Amino acid sequence: MDSYRINEIFYSLQGEGYYTGTPAVFLRMSGCNLKCGFCDTSHESHTVMTIDEIIDAVTDFPARHIVITGGEPTLQLDAALTTRLKEEGFYIQIETNGTHPVAPAVDWVTVSPKGAPLAINKADELKIVFTGHDVETIAETVEACHLFLQPCSEQNIQETVRYIKEHPWWRLSLQTHKLIDIP
Ligand code: SF4
Repeated sequence: MDSYRINEIFYSLQGEGYYTGTPAVFLRMSGCNLKCGFCDTSHESHTVMTIDEIIDAVTDFPARHIVITGGEPTLQLDAALTTRLKEEGFYIQIETNGTHPVAPAVDWVTVSPKGAPLAINKADELKIVFTGHDVETIAETVEACHLFLQPCSEQNIQETVRYIKEHPWWRLSLQTHKLIDIP
């Protein structure tokens, strides 16, 4: 790809899942193939950036852990960009809804299925926003070493904790960046 539609690039701590607390550069790509009711991401606003412009921006920060998210990043992330990021020494984590294959050279795949048919059956981390639905069937579909459930709101935190205690192969993921009020 010659250019990419980028929603924002910023530096923070990973707030969720396995790498919670890890300093990371966030590359948020614009656009998604799904329309989840609870989605809090703007899919419209974006800046068109070349690979060189992206590399300039992400190397401005001291961390070399990058979280590529969206929207749905697999719609745009390709080998050309992952190769350049690896050349710059980045550990690449992607957060995807799992409906498209992931580009080569990604180090860590976090899948958060949103009810649409999945195109991948293997990930490093499965992270599901828990609404009380059947998460075991999803876990059978995607083979992952680390299984996380994340409450969908303050109202179902206790329900999520109860479920995890009864199904102890899951772990709790909280949106800690919201708890401590960082981006
Ligand atoms: S998959 Fe994620 S980014 Fe896409 S609409 Fe759903 S919540 Fe939003």
